[in-house]
Amino acid sequence: MPWADLRARINPYRPSGLAYQGDKTMSDHVSRRDALKKVVLMLGVVAVARPGQRVHAADLPHLDPTDPTAKALGYTSDAKTVDAKAFPQYKAGSACNNCLQFQGKAGDAWGPCSIFAGKQVNANGWCQVYVKKA
Ligand code: SF4
Repeated sequence: MPWADLRARINPYRPSGLAYQGDKTMSDHVSRRDALKKVVLMLGVVAVARPGQRVHAADLPHLDPTDPTAKALGYTSDAKTVDAKAFPQYKAGSACNNCLQFQGKAGDAWGPCSIFAGKQVNANGWCQVYVKKA
């Protein structure tokens, strides 16, 4: 006789599709699930209750042109200083504030850039990843 059938005969109230889980009862599972829900809710409340801890775009550090990634992409915080010989793709008037990757608002002096996560770039800056905003 298969073990599941034998177990069902011994305890006909235990659903045969459930795996044996020691001496745990259904209330043990429910209470653990409830406790986990409470912990998740508490963490959510703590996160909401401390809005000062959120990182706002304006709080992000400014991208340093000497940062290795910035250097590799030819970033400068002043597009007027771009070396046109080194970066022939540069066109006059191109700047972060009219680049597709710029996430700041119109008029912002600095803003996040999707290329340099966690940093702000100068609205008047430029790098060779520049793509004109449509
Ligand atoms: S990708 Fe665009 S917004 Fe970002 S640094 Fe380069 S030119 Fe500026």
